[in-house]
Amino acid sequence: MIDGFSLSHGRSYLAIPGPSVMPDAVLRAMHRASPNIYEGELVDLTHALIPDLLRVARSDGDLAIYIANGHGVWEAALANVIAPGDRVLSVATGAFGQGWAEMARGLGAEVKMLDFGTRSGWDPEQVAEALRADKTHRIKAVLAVHVDTSSSVRNDIPALRRALDEAGHPALLMADCIASLGCDRFEMDAWGVDITVAACQKGLMVPAGVGFVFFNDKAASVRSGMERVSRYWDWTTRVDPPLFYQYFGGTPPTQHLFGLRAALDLIHAEGMENVWRRHAVLAQAIWAACDVWGSAGALRFNISDPAQRSHAVTALHLDGADGTRLRHWVEQNLGLTIGIGLGLAEYRTPEWDGNFRLGHMGHVNGHMILGLLGGIEAGLTALDIPHGSGAVDAAARVIAGL
Ligand SMILES: *Cc1c(COP(=O)(O)O)cnc(C)c1O
Repeated sequence: MIDGFSLSHGRSYLAIPGPSVMPDAVLRAMHRASPNIYEGELVDLTHALIPDLLRVARSDGDLAIYIANGHGVWEAALANVIAPGDRVLSVATGAFGQGWAEMARGLGAEVKMLDFGTRSGWDPEQVAEALRADKTHRIKAVLAVHVDTSSSVRNDIPALRRALDEAGHPALLMADCIASLGCDRFEMDAWGVDITVAACQKGLMVPAGVGFVFFNDKAASVRSGMERVSRYWDWTTRVDPPLFYQYFGGTPPTQHLFGLRAALDLIHAEGMENVWRRHAVLAQAIWAACDVWGSAGALRFNISDPAQRSHAVTALHLDGADGTRLRHWVEQNLGLTIGIGLGLAEYRTPEWDGNFRLGHMGHVNGHMILGLLGGIEAGLTALDIPHGSGAVDAAARVIAGL
């Protein structure tokens, strides 16, 4: 930026792993006066959202909706099945796995932590061993984050189901799909997940404020065995309730519901398989560019194995404080915001300043990703950060299907 001049004027682009870019159709749908909240359009619209959300999660189970962000539904899900003194097994591969475990501790659970670090996915064999060792079946639930947004690892959920089944262990399998729902393939029923938590501001492309807990019959029966569940979080009153206000335990999030309707229309018009494929191709384009930049410079992936990388977020590292310098440069000069590093280094240390993340979830397409990569190329060049040349060409070839 020279003399106050910059190329940042124009439409800004928030390329962070949530909140994600909102489609104009979502913004338009939300921009309206509040409707009658007792009868009419909003009531019909909400009833119709439920099956369309279940289709995104590939589930025939039940769904409770909360006015909450992801942290809220972490607690909502736990509150229905975990009582003080119950034991849970947490399999963590990043800050969000740690965070959900912390939430369980706060509710009085005894947490057994299997910490797999932040550079790769979990090892199902170690999980199986912990389950086999639990001969009296004290572990009531396994807490697993599908895509940990801090490390950008994508974990193998079906492998956990196999570990539970092979050990003959009855624990509930609980999955955090906040960063993966509507981005990476996720099939709740086919994968044998008992409880799924998700939120609306990532793959679902709506501003933060609504969260979801999907659950099956097995989870419902564990809920029935609970001595006490706090009224507000109790999911039983939120599923197919006789009175409309009970869906939300109070006033509905009216504008969010209209936004969600518009987002689900976009998702189902495209088709789940195509949504997943679009995210996969765009992620491969980003990785192709990063491979080239890293070939003659200090850029590296946090997750080196492509098979273990999320298709919605990519955590990267540059030496020195170059991650932060790059973030600031593209924001000030191009109107492009990329994500800070999270949970991989202590806040505001030089190591932390090397980390950054690219969000590529939800309403993103080929030209946006090429713009994101071109912007980073400009930043690396302007800041004289060493990098290989031809990165945008490499991404363009992926997007061109070559
Ligand atoms: C974003 C995210 C959360 C937290 O969601 P908030 O809405 O910020 O509370 C939890 N888990 C994962 C995997 C996430 O990506």
